[in-house]
Amino acid sequence: MLLVQKFGGSSVATLDHMERVADKIRSVRAAGDQVVVVVSAMGDRTDELVNLAVQANPAMPAREMDVLMATGEVQSTALLAMVLQRTGITAQSFTGREAGILTDSHHRRARILAVDPARLRAALADGITPVVAGFQGVDEGGAVTTLGRGGSDLTAIALAGALKADRCEIYSDVAGVFTADPRIVPSAVPLDHLSYDEMVELASQGAQVLQTRAVEYARTNKVVIHARSTFAEDAPGTLIVEKNQDNPPVTAVALATKVAKIGLVGVPDAPGVAAHLFSRLAEHGIDVDLVIQSLSHQKLNDIAFTVHLDDLPKAEPIAREVLVELKGSALIVDTDIAKVSAVGSGMLGRPGVAARVFLALADAGVNIQMIGTSEIKISCIVAAADAKRSLLAIHQAFGLAPLNSGSR
Ligand code: ASP
Ligand code: MG
Repeated sequence: MLLVQKFGGSSVATLDHMERVADKIRSVRAAGDQVVVVVSAMGDRTDELVNLAVQANPAMPAREMDVLMATGEVQSTALLAMVLQRTGITAQSFTGREAGILTDSHHRRARILAVDPARLRAALADGITPVVAGFQGVDEGGAVTTLGRGGSDLTAIALAGALKADRCEIYSDVAGVFTADPRIVPSAVPLDHLSYDEMVELASQGAQVLQTRAVEYARTNKVVIHARSTFAEDAPGTLIVEKNQDNPPVTAVALATKVAKIGLVGVPDAPGVAAHLFSRLAEHGIDVDLVIQSLSHQKLNDIAFTVHLDDLPKAEPIAREVLVELKGSALIVDTDIAKVSAVGSGMLGRPGVAARVFLALADAGVNIQMIGTSEIKISCIVAAADAKRSLLAIHQAFGLAPLNSGSR
């Protein structure tokens, strides 16, 4: 069997942690399996490097940011390879370039264009365990690139796809994907399995277990992901696969707190208004999430939308400009909000799930400010102060804790 095993920052935070990781790798090798290891930067190293960069130059030139950030993962590969060699395992470090990760030139958020794992294959054939630096690649001109925060997940999944590995195991300090963030919902339990579609929605709605792009890549390339804990040895973890056979109306709930709402009050109710506003935002690369437009009254409308909090400094002046152009009456900006989302593949073709979500929030006395849906997701914007209560209420209403804990 060929496995790709990815160890996140908390799993390689210190040399002691690396010893635990080495034990795991040793047991895979002892069982006669081959393994390609992918590592993140040690602990909070990436954040530390970003902080240094901000001090060096607040403009954070993207090319240099990538050169800098990529060093975090490289450190991990060399140290882990040394630990492995000391304990009798032939291991060798690989940078993203050496591992054959070719990307576009979009620094800090590069896309993988191709993977050429020839050197990794050769190493495996020689009985060497490759230890690959996650999160990084190289563009056609030879410049170092990075794959967006959390990008080591993507490296591991892309390598698993290219090497046709049997599975991609993603190790972190949590025991898989939970029905909710256990720090917020103490009764949350790990899921045995869920579908790619569900995981993509959860990851993009705020669940932090896996990078969204990595799950999308796995879905396209049909890489089976096994999310597991490095430290809770006997926890079964979560498999992410094509289809969730259980098909529950709600599989898990997620909370996003870095959300901002912008509202344009009293703009004309005429063709092209929304098109104008949202094309201006798109031109500046701003992702708009939820949108509501009120019923028109006296030929006027209100339009509100949400963006990621980080995009607010760019989005607000654009919205203000458009408001002035359209002679609207006021701009409302609210950052004191949160988005709660319920995700489940069984929503599809099962009416009434949205009503149950809204009822759960009503019973908890929570006012819903905006609603957004997809085939397998219902999202509600609520006041930040209501966020935790909302998550608990939906988790409870769909019996997530008892249902899943019963099966373990
Ligand atoms: N070290 C990078 C980050 O912190 C990549 C990763 O950990 O996956 O975002
Ligand atoms: Mg991570």
